[in-house]
Parts: sequence; C-alpha cells; structure tokens
Amino acid sequence: MTKKREFETEAIRQQIPRSGFSEHTSAMYVTSSFVFDDAEDMRASFAEEKEKNIYSRFSNPNNTEFVDKIVAMEGAESGYAFASGMAAIFSTFGALLSSGDHILSARSVFGSTHSLFTKFFPKWGIETSYFNINEAESLESLIRPNTKIIYAETPTNPGLEIIDLEYLGKIAKKNGILLVIDNCFATPYLQQPIKFGADLVVHSATKLIDGQGRVLGGVTVGKTDLIREIYLFSRNTGPSLSPFNSWILSKSLETLSVRVDRHCENALALAEFLEGHEKVSKVRYPFLKSHPQYDIAVKQMKKGGNIVAFEVKGGLQGGQDFLNRIQMCSLSANLGDTRTIVTHPATSTHSKLSAEERQIVGITDGLIRVSTGLENISDIVEDLSQALNY
Ligand SMILES: *Cc1c(COP(=O)(O)O)cnc(C)c1O
Repeated sequence: MTKKREFETEAIRQQIPRSGFSEHTSAMYVTSSFVFDDAEDMRASFAEEKEKNIYSRFSNPNNTEFVDKIVAMEGAESGYAFASGMAAIFSTFGALLSSGDHILSARSVFGSTHSLFTKFFPKWGIETSYFNINEAESLESLIRPNTKIIYAETPTNPGLEIIDLEYLGKIAKKNGILLVIDNCFATPYLQQPIKFGADLVVHSATKLIDGQGRVLGGVTVGKTDLIREIYLFSRNTGPSLSPFNSWILSKSLETLSVRVDRHCENALALAEFLEGHEKVSKVRYPFLKSHPQYDIAVKQMKKGGNIVAFEVKGGLQGGQDFLNRIQMCSLSANLGDTRTIVTHPATSTHSKLSAEERQIVGITDGLIRVSTGLENISDIVEDLSQALNY
C-alpha cells in the first residue's frame, strides 16, 4: 500500500490541469468560453454526459484546481468557488432554502451574514433565530419543525468564542438538520468541521487562504448532493470566481500551512505578552489557558489561529486613542494578511449594532482586534507596546 500523503504535501503536489506546454506551475485559463469538437461533443457536454468546461460562469480549469485542493484539505466530497466569501454564503443559503424555512444561527456571526439574516431573508419568508454559544444546552429547545440549517462560525469574530463542533454535529444529525460552518478564521489546516459532522463548510478565501491581501474569493465544500444544488443555483445567478483569482488562491494554498504556523506562533506570543500587561484588562486567544473554552479549542483546533482580542481601558475613546498611537501595524478592514492589522470593532466593523447588541456578542467599548501578521514578532510587540505605554 502506498503512503497517504500528508496535508502539506497534498497542497503542493496535487494534480494540476495541463495545457500541453509542460509547465511546472498551472497555466491561467483566462477565457470566457470553451470550444467543442463537433455537434455531438457539444450536445454530450451540455447533457453532462462528459465532464467538459462549457462557459466560465459554470466552470473553469483554474476554479476546479482551487476547489479540488480545498475539498481535499477539508475532507469534503465536492465544492464550488465564488467571487467572495459573501457570494459563497448567500449562494449556499439561496440554493438550499425556501420560503417558510428557518435558520438557527449562533448569535455572533460575520456582519454581512447577520445583515442577510435580518434585512434580506425576511423579505423571502426565511426566518432566523439565534442561540448563545455559552448556553449550548438551549440549542435544542430553539429547533422548530421548519428549521433547515444550523449555522455557526468558530472561533467567532471578534469575540473569539469557541463553539463545540462535535456537539453541534450531534444535535444536527439527531434532528435531521443541515450543519453549515463558516471556517474562515481557522482554515482547513487548523480545523476540519466535516470531521465533527458538518454537512457544508463555507470560506471567505479573501482572508488566510489568500493570506496576502490581494484578491477576494469564496468557496463552499461538503456533500455532493448539496453542492450540486449550490452549483445549479450559482451557474444561473452568476457569482463565479475569476480564473485569475482562483489561480492566485490555488497557489496560496501551497503555502497555507507554513504561513498559518507562523501566524499562530506570532499570535500566541502576542497574546501572552498582552496577558501580562498592566494597561490591558482582558485578553482572548483560543490557545491561552485562561480562555473559557480552552478545552474545546484544543479538542477541535490544531493551533489557536491568528486573531487576538483584548480590552484597553478608557472605553470607546480609549480604543480610538490606542489606534491613533499605532505606528507600524495597519488600520484596515481585512484580516489574515501578511501585515498585522488592528481594528476597534465598536467604532468600525460593529458600529451598526446598538451598545446592547454589542454587549450580547461580547464586543465591549475598549475591545481591540489584532489580526497578527507575519512580521517579526518583536516588531509587532514593540508597536503594540508603545501604543499602550502612554
Ligand atoms: C470576511 C468574512 C466573510 C466574508 O467574506 P468576503 O470574502 O469579504 O465576502 C465571511 N465570514 C467571515 C468569518 C469573514 O471573516
């Protein structure tokens, strides 16, 4: 029996599409459509009697290469790529839900996902209710006869709470409900929700998968019958990923493990530095022993990820003052870049929530989110340190 290749090797050595020029790295297939040999070839391709690219809104060799890699990394059956993380999330719900269906979501989800649930889905008769992750026991009591999807992100943004995937997987299975997990913060290198019973995993590939702040992208992977529905919805609605972006993203996956290893090493060192700092009242990082769900984090994640959250004194003004003293790190909306990024969620990404809503999802006025980059850790610590020592 030949040895099964490890995660890192598979990311680099996976079969790539060949153009006929013996290229070592994949070619870029910048073409909107593909040609057929004759009328029969065309008929059979449209009838899906053969696997052939027809039109890049449906499929493209670069997209297929990127998707196949993520599918292997997540331990999924199939997948489909999208122009952004939100396109992946919207198309997944759009393909699988009908008017009258109900979503049961973790309370703390990405801002635009929250807007889908509260502003747009109600227009189409799709209702969402929320469970608090610290009261996981109440989850089952919130299930209704029309609940179709249980949805969660873990770690959450920006509170970095950890949701027990094994528990969610059991509840979903027992009740015949689909479990969909946004695995953006962890990446398949750190966490594979399908192992714990997720039916589908969605990603914003814009974040750690690209990891270099260049392109937008998204992907959904999981069970073949579900992906088939998502594919049909998408090929008719058009959220397709450009071949240029999938070329970039597929290349990025070759370095995912080394990048994420260093991101996690830097983030843990930063979290440990902050935890001992007199100006910092609270630090959240999944792999700090002080994290309330440390045991679950260690059970389902290989390492703690690149995001660190902490509380500076002085409330809203304290948070803004801290950002104004930052010299090297970037003030930006992205995360998972080579560059360390600091944000103040209460006055930026989560400013549309009321103070009470922010409190419920753990976004206190002085909370700072750091997306730890790949700079030398001593320089990251130096910048945050000087911004705290005023
Ligand atoms: C960024 C993000 C998204 C949305 O992805 P885009 O690529 O920006 O559309 C979804 N979920 C999480 C957790 C994210 O961080």
